[in-house]
Amino acid sequence: MMKGTVKSQSVRHGFEAPHDSKEEVLVESLRKMVSLDGVVLQKHNDYYTLLRFLRMKDFDLLKAKDAFLNYLKWRREYDVDAICKEFKFEEYRELKICYPHGYHGVDRCGRPVYIERTGSVDLNALLQITTIERFLKYHVSEQEKTLSWRFPSCSIAAKRHIASSTTILDVKGVGMSNFTKPARNLFMELQKIDSNYYPGTLHQVFVVNAGSGFRALWKVLRAFLDARTLAKIQVLGRNYTSKLLEVIDPSNLPTFLGGNCTCSESGGCHFSDKGPWNDPDIMRLLQEMIDAEERKHNGESSSATTNENIHTDMNNIYIKDVFDVSPAENTDSEGVTVIDKPLLLKLQALEAALKDAKKQIQMLETSIEGTKTVLTGLNQHMEELLGKNN
Ligand SMILES: [Zn+2]
Repeated sequence: MMKGTVKSQSVRHGFEAPHDSKEEVLVESLRKMVSLDGVVLQKHNDYYTLLRFLRMKDFDLLKAKDAFLNYLKWRREYDVDAICKEFKFEEYRELKICYPHGYHGVDRCGRPVYIERTGSVDLNALLQITTIERFLKYHVSEQEKTLSWRFPSCSIAAKRHIASSTTILDVKGVGMSNFTKPARNLFMELQKIDSNYYPGTLHQVFVVNAGSGFRALWKVLRAFLDARTLAKIQVLGRNYTSKLLEVIDPSNLPTFLGGNCTCSESGGCHFSDKGPWNDPDIMRLLQEMIDAEERKHNGESSSATTNENIHTDMNNIYIKDVFDVSPAENTDSEGVTVIDKPLLLKLQALEAALKDAKKQIQMLETSIEGTKTVLTGLNQHMEELLGKNN
């Protein structure tokens, strides 16, 4: 490995898990297919984002492409970048009281832990202090913060690639009567956003304190969740503590869930947002990485960013990570460009797709060779065994 590129590389190392070669080929194919449509990506085309959409559609390239383009369209129409930069949710503290939730530390593998006391949600009070529209914007801004800020920080802290979180939902007292029309609508809206636009960011979910009321409701809710999500959810009754402590250290678990954290200095665990993403050393490291990326893409040294700008810059980490398309004209706020020379582009993309197909055939050939070797070995082994028995 080259020694010259020092720190930025060591930081990036924490981000990048070794790529699976087959997945890498499919990610490249997806990138090329998107460009076949005349869309040049300057943002959101990094390896992990594309991989998440591929996994979401079981590596069906066409379906993954549609889902990904749908995601870009939503980002443009909903103006997600503007939400990240400009949206101010002043009702934050009030909301936390009638909707107790928040990120709180990491699990034993270093993933962020999200805790929600669903049973204590007062939806009427919520609608008094904010609107559904603003609440959804807040939700999206938090999702963006998790992708561009919490995951990278956790990766650095854990020295491994972190790209999903662990969720705990305390449903004490939740039953069918809670599932009123406004609650249903809100649930559906959140579900739509999370499953369509933030696929693959959930590692596991623990539903705790599930009583008979919740179990009845659960039968209804299950119908709205896809199989992939359902497989990640464990519904637990009152004896959940040992299960949670298996995956989360007690210092990262609030006392009300059987851990020993109170976050008294922040006014409670729901307010603290404690985690590597608030660690000053990690923030500094991330800033160095951003500056290095910045210099790399701008050619020359860019002026050092002040601390106030850290968060805004964090939103672009993923975007700056892979930047293999040269800047083109007509770039809109999303960094998506529609090229006026579709034929040339299509030819280029076709050429690339052909190369991919060749690469895939080669890989297949290698794997057939591997199977042959194994079979030959097995055959020899069988013969030896038979020989011994005779
Ligand atoms: Zn706490």
